[in-house]
Amino acid sequence: MITEEILKKAQHVIDLYNEEQLMINGENHLLNCPFCGSNAKIIKFNDEEHFDIGCTNENCYLYEGADWHNDSIEEATKRWNKRK
Ligand SMILES: [Zn+2]
Repeated sequence: MITEEILKKAQHVIDLYNEEQLMINGENHLLNCPFCGSNAKIIKFNDEEHFDIGCTNENCYLYEGADWHNDSIEEATKRWNKRK
C-alpha cells in the first residue's frame, strides 16, 4: 500500500501515451477511467522502477493515480484493467 508520504516524494513524472503506445506485449491495453471515462495514463515514479495508472482528467478522483506502486508498466496495466 502506497502512503501519502511516498506519493509526495514521488513527484510524479507523467507520461501520456497515445493508443498505440499503450499496447504492451500486444495484449494489454489501458481501459478508460472507471469513474469518468477519460483516457488513462501511465504514471512513472521518479525512481524509474515503479508505475501507477491514473486518469487524464485533472478533476477526477484518479488523476493522481490509483494508489499503486507496481514494479512494471505491464503489471500496472493488468491491475488497472481488472478493476471493477
Ligand atoms: Zn477519471
